[in-house]
Amino acid sequence: MKFVIVTGGVLSGLGKGITAASIGLLLKLRGIETTAIKIDPYINCDAGTMNPYQHGEVFVLDDGGETDLDLGHYERFLDCSLTSEHNITTGKVYREVIERERRGDYLGATVQVIPHITNEIKRRIRKVAKESGAEVTIVEVGGTVGDIESMPFLEALRQLHREVGGNENCVFVHTTLVPKISVVGEQKTKPTQHSVKELREIGISPDIIVGRCEEELLYDIKKKIALFCDVPIDAVISNPNVSTIYEVPLVFERQGLTNYLIKKMKLQPKNGDLSLWREFVERIKNPKYRVRIAIVGKYTYLHDSYISHKEALTHAGAKLRTGVDIVWVEAEDLEGGASIPDVHGIIVPGGFGKRGTEGKIMAIRYARENNVPFLGICLGFQLTVVEYARNVCGMEGANSTEFDENTPHPVVDLLPEQRDIKFMGATMRLGASDIVLDENSLVYKLYGKKVISERHRHRYEVNNEYVDVLERKGLRFVGRSKDRGLMEVLELPSNIFFVASQFHPEFKSRPFKPAPLYLGLVSAALKFKYGEDIIVNEVGNDGD
Ligand code: GLN
Repeated sequence: MKFVIVTGGVLSGLGKGITAASIGLLLKLRGIETTAIKIDPYINCDAGTMNPYQHGEVFVLDDGGETDLDLGHYERFLDCSLTSEHNITTGKVYREVIERERRGDYLGATVQVIPHITNEIKRRIRKVAKESGAEVTIVEVGGTVGDIESMPFLEALRQLHREVGGNENCVFVHTTLVPKISVVGEQKTKPTQHSVKELREIGISPDIIVGRCEEELLYDIKKKIALFCDVPIDAVISNPNVSTIYEVPLVFERQGLTNYLIKKMKLQPKNGDLSLWREFVERIKNPKYRVRIAIVGKYTYLHDSYISHKEALTHAGAKLRTGVDIVWVEAEDLEGGASIPDVHGIIVPGGFGKRGTEGKIMAIRYARENNVPFLGICLGFQLTVVEYARNVCGMEGANSTEFDENTPHPVVDLLPEQRDIKFMGATMRLGASDIVLDENSLVYKLYGKKVISERHRHRYEVNNEYVDVLERKGLRFVGRSKDRGLMEVLELPSNIFFVASQFHPEFKSRPFKPAPLYLGLVSAALKFKYGEDIIVNEVGNDGD
């Protein structure tokens, strides 16, 4: 069991998650089994109760875990499916320890941060490392070194380092900022020096420094960081601006990071083929075609709120040699009279609460009436049903009871078991479940199979009492949940591409396995723009 611990200094948002995911990928491509854990030092038990404006999207796992978006990076880079145990939060740790204390497991003891909390942190990390069977477990610590919240975690990792014998078994990678100050035009190392000093004070010496910078670090700057931070110069790695996050592993590889890690950790690499990944990056950077796709949301000022949609579009675009330019549209602006921009496709993603819903309905109507390729996800699916009921079936005031409890036509409503729920945490319909598709549908064609498994995160459902009338007017529900016959996916056959799903296909999209509905949307956008069917499988890039 070996560990790579990724910490962050100076400030957040330095691409720590991408650094962790990239290291995982580079090791994996050398035949070394890798898994990843994200530590989030906040007190929430999971990310499910947080507003996307705070931390970006809530990423949903197969087992229904509502986690930090970095788990999405790990799944995409490592092409794996993780469980909620891979996201450790202060809330989860304390809840466990307090429950144990109440049970009497610590009778006689004073329960303290050291050793009880730190032991529980280490237990969780070891459990995941063991059960995953990975040779190397990457542990990313959220937040910045020096934050009060992350102290118990860093202390636990310091102990872990000693317990596993340090050196080749546990390596610390510290990510920092190397700003280039325009007045002097120089790359400055002082923030890095200070954050390493802070790390040292808590007993951790970094083995590798990854410097986030606008351009590659100059040789002299690397030398200076190496000297001040007491690491060899080969262990100072630049993380410069790149046009796609998928290029970061290539940038690290070029600087010898993988070889350095393999040597330092005494790993036995088996193969080392980056060519498929290189081709994937090449396709993203040099597309043959370009389309514009609008995402109509309510957290559009923080693009991270919709990160999995963005990545799913990138994956589909790479396969179709198409650069997808996302046009962010704030739903409320549409309500205020703004018009839909000139785009080749529209996505209405998931969301909660009334704000912006009427604007989203306007976007759906526009897509339907103008035959613009359209994909609605979760709330987008529910609002598609509302729009159709109102504007095609003549049901005035139709709505979801989430937004209008007294609507005369509750086309989207709570199931009885959701009505009495008092606790909001982890009580939605969550995680992967099976959906049976109608063989005579576009969605079936896209998936190429009858039973699919997709992830969910919602409380409300399409009201089955309205299905007949909606279908009589042309809307088709072409997928139902296997266990209970709930409506899962719809399409409007009269349009070029008008599809919406209750499930979230974006969470399972991977670089070499784009989510079928995004592939369908981007293909349709190409057709919409160029007026012809672009051949999908020009070059095999199927990774699996
Ligand atoms: N608010 C809706 C529900 O709870 C949709 C949720 C979502 O889009 N993730 O059912």
